[in-house]
Amino acid sequence: MLSRMIKNLAASIAALRVSYWRTGAWFAALGCALAMISTGAGFSLEEQFRIFRDGFRARPASGQVHIIEIDAKSIATLQSWPWSRQLHGELLDKLDAAGVTMVAFDVDFSSPSQPEGDLAFAKAIRNFNGTVVLPTFRQAASGTTVNQVENLPIKPLAAHSFLGSVNVFPDPDGQMRNYSYGTVTNGIARPSLGAIISGAANEVNAQFRIDSAVEPATIPRHSFADVLAGRVTRADLANANIVVGATAIELGDRYATPRHGVLPGVVIQAMAAETLIAGSMNPSAGPWPLLLLTAMIGWQQRKLRKTPRRVATALVTFAIIMIVSFVAEARHVASFSVMPAMMMGFVLLAALETIDLVRRFQRSRLVDSETELPNERALLLRRDISGRVVMVVAHLRQFGEITSVLSADDRTALIVRASDRLTLGADGTQIHLLGAGILGWARAGEIDDHTIEQVDALARLFGGAIEVGGRNLLITPAFGVASGDASDLSRLVSRARLASERAAASGQRWMIHNSSLETETDRALLLMADIDAALASGDIWAAYQPKWSAQEQRIAGSEALVRWRHPVLGPIPPDEFIPLLEANDKLRELTLMMLGQCLDDLAGWTALGLDIGVAVNISAPLLDDPQFVEQIAERIIAAPVAGSKLTLEVTESATVSSAEAVIAALNRLRTLGLRVSIDDYGTGQSTLTYLKSFPADELKIDKSFISRMLESQGDQAMVRSTIALAHELGFKVVAEGVEDGECLEKLVEFGCDTMQGWHIGKPVPIADFIALAQSQIVQQRAA
Ligand code: C2E
Ligand code: CA
Ligand code: CA
Repeated sequence: MLSRMIKNLAASIAALRVSYWRTGAWFAALGCALAMISTGAGFSLEEQFRIFRDGFRARPASGQVHIIEIDAKSIATLQSWPWSRQLHGELLDKLDAAGVTMVAFDVDFSSPSQPEGDLAFAKAIRNFNGTVVLPTFRQAASGTTVNQVENLPIKPLAAHSFLGSVNVFPDPDGQMRNYSYGTVTNGIARPSLGAIISGAANEVNAQFRIDSAVEPATIPRHSFADVLAGRVTRADLANANIVVGATAIELGDRYATPRHGVLPGVVIQAMAAETLIAGSMNPSAGPWPLLLLTAMIGWQQRKLRKTPRRVATALVTFAIIMIVSFVAEARHVASFSVMPAMMMGFVLLAALETIDLVRRFQRSRLVDSETELPNERALLLRRDISGRVVMVVAHLRQFGEITSVLSADDRTALIVRASDRLTLGADGTQIHLLGAGILGWARAGEIDDHTIEQVDALARLFGGAIEVGGRNLLITPAFGVASGDASDLSRLVSRARLASERAAASGQRWMIHNSSLETETDRALLLMADIDAALASGDIWAAYQPKWSAQEQRIAGSEALVRWRHPVLGPIPPDEFIPLLEANDKLRELTLMMLGQCLDDLAGWTALGLDIGVAVNISAPLLDDPQFVEQIAERIIAAPVAGSKLTLEVTESATVSSAEAVIAALNRLRTLGLRVSIDDYGTGQSTLTYLKSFPADELKIDKSFISRMLESQGDQAMVRSTIALAHELGFKVVAEGVEDGECLEKLVEFGCDTMQGWHIGKPVPIADFIALAQSQIVQQRAA
């Protein structure tokens, strides 16, 4: 009950851990959006996008507002600049005649000009039937104060007209975006020119954004000169509200605008009026509504597991942002800032994808790409295993050989099938792939009877062949088992692996790890590291053990036995280091060294007048290699000694496995005159009749039979009959392991040719051996 609760808790914490990063991504994205809002970054993007939207819903002007331009043409045709105000009066008269009801001037009338001109204009204003609006504009009160004053038209003109402010307020970047309903200067409120023309009333100090969707080119324009000349008809102007102002470049009064470039002030007044007429002031809704929406969608989006879904959600979010902002402006509801929302959507998507990518990468590091089995790294990262654990490793024997004939797919299939079988027998535990042909799993607990039964049952489970790609493969795992603390899992894996390798090497179905396996391995590694130095320094050398000839009644031969005195570990038995050399491909080197030593020593003995042969042990697998056999032949040919003095001892097992190559090699070497001895006879499976056809001169009965001969009648019978039969087949017979005189006598009685063993002499260094051989000559002479 409690453990289940803990498990559930752990699971929910694990789940939290997953969304932890995603939630973090959401906050990060929101943070970016907030930073954008607070710093104003992305402003120009925001503007670009707004211009894009305005361009999209571009529309012609209403046609209600007309501009009468003081353009270059007017300046050229009418008298020289500045004009007499009489011209404005004439204009008013013409417009009155054309039925115009409102004329607004964006022309500075704040200071008096020629009295006649001012008078004429004042008269025209008074006579005008509609409304005349004259401009007021703000100016610094004097060059030295910050006080502002509103400049009004001169009294005679202002008397019969409305006053409208023409103040405009470019943004700090110089762009003209906003327009006000009016201005308050020194406590006096004045509606703006645009507000008056459009008839819109609002709080005077409020601003609105000039709708740049209005195409300024569609505002009807008439040249001042044309109107005066009567070229503009009544039909052209009826019911129009007129703004009069300068458009000639040389008169200045121009402003930069976001979508339409530089525009004359009068056009900006007209655009503002158009905005008010259409009601497209689009009050700013700011960034918050869309950001909130994006944040809400994003909160759900972060839970989505699949990239296409997340991308689709992001695209939908972007689409919503676009549509909402566009429609809201087209419907004259509001103008949204979209960039913070876009930013959030984009950052969130990027962050979620990055998290996903990292996850997938991490996962790929934990899974074998071919079999999709979790690997060793995954095993070591497992959190569900704690306390004491049993680690089992299954080493598929001859995996390399078996799979060398398979395609990559079949190899994968084989591992997967093997892993399925293991899962079946291992209570459904997760199987990990630990290496080529090495599978393993861990479970909580200690090694007990159940473990052993399970492993044994598993081994039996593999008795049946696995079918892969139409082939039936018999693959037998060797199991290694180790137990310990979960915190030490990595070491447990190594231990179980080592045990499995040992089991495989020794032909056992399974092996439980114990510390001696490791000591052995440590020692083996140590020895391997020192072997080259030992071969070079003479720490590895040849000892000679005498062989006594019954016929000649003297020591007529010897066996060279390799010796290694390690500077730290002391004498290392050949049975220990020869398999190491073999496994590390160094046995050739050792054999050549021993052979060379023996040939040198043989020559030395001959020089001393000693007539003694020598036998060298050759590991049979080396004879499989014709190149190596030639190397041996070369040495023997080069040596200044008779071939018949040299014997090669080859173990009996060599006569069975890879017989052909070995027979060829021995035949080749025998042509050089040397002798071949079948070593360890009796320990293998071959019969003497079989050996008849084998290229050997001598048979060496293994010491296990000789040493048991005196106690065991069976062994004695075997030795006796072997000697008899061997003689019949033409072999000489050597007995090894002769440890006492009684044994020697028996062998002489049986007719054995040569005796070797501690009773005759132990293996000794060359100097001792020479001394022994020489003393025997002295004895013989004495006898
Ligand atoms: P092996 O060829 O059967 O060598 C005879 C082993 O019996 C030697 O052990 C020798 O010391 C031991 N021995 C001799 N007389 C007696 C005795 O009276 N009683 C007992 N109990 N043992 C006796 P060693 O030197 O430890 O060699 C072990 C094995 O190592 C050899 O077995 C041989 O297979 C291999 N070996 C030794 N030197 C070489 C070598 O130079 N090359 C190769 N390839 N193998 C070698
Ligand atoms: Ca031998
Ligand atoms: Ca032997």
